[in-house]
Amino acid sequence: MSAVADNLATVRRRIESACARVGRSAGSVELIAVSKLHSAASILECRAAGQLDFGENYAQEMRDKAVELAAVGDLRWHAIGPLQLNKAKYVAKHADAFHALDRADVAGELSRRRSGKPLRCFIEINLASEASKRGLEASRASEFLDSVRQLPGLEIVGLMCLPPMAARADDSRPYFLKLKELAVELKLPQLSMGTTADFEVAIEEGSTAVRVGTAIFGERPSA
Ligand SMILES: *Cc1c(COP(=O)(O)O)cnc(C)c1O
Repeated sequence: MSAVADNLATVRRRIESACARVGRSAGSVELIAVSKLHSAASILECRAAGQLDFGENYAQEMRDKAVELAAVGDLRWHAIGPLQLNKAKYVAKHADAFHALDRADVAGELSRRRSGKPLRCFIEINLASEASKRGLEASRASEFLDSVRQLPGLEIVGLMCLPPMAARADDSRPYFLKLKELAVELKLPQLSMGTTADFEVAIEEGSTAVRVGTAIFGERPSA
């Protein structure tokens, strides 16, 4: 097995164990392999091991990879990073899901540019009010949801968060719990939460989509 295939198998096993600990079925968690800054060859290695969902932070990089790998036919692209208005067209055209919705103008642009299957969207919440991070304050989520939920071409399915950097995975737990509570309040069924550092804790707290890069592909080359 290649290193990537080996890593992928390990991550899948860890997801299954985390699900088992809390009585969830492994199929209730979507694994997104975060391939940002990794090569198309690494993505193909991962695809050969059965992985179809890939996460990218930079809209242009996602577009380039989607075009380069179009012949593969069954890859699904998840845009997981902050999105500028003028790059929304790439996400509208190539992505299956957008995990970092936090601006009404970007939502409008995605809606106008989308054709075909609705773009699944997660609203990003900045739970710790970190200045360095994007995302809405939790208190604004309801109003924002009302302003975007009727837009054609978009389907608002859930919430996303990236908790503060922590020394231990367990430190993220209160944030995951908070996101879950907010999603229940807003009646949104899906939760995009958990990365290499804390995906098992996220699953225990109800994550339905984990975004895992380093544990699958190794350290990222610098941009
Ligand atoms: C890069 C990134 C990830 C993956 O992080 P790893 O630590 O490599 O698993 C997940 N989510 C977002 C929003 C990211 O930017």
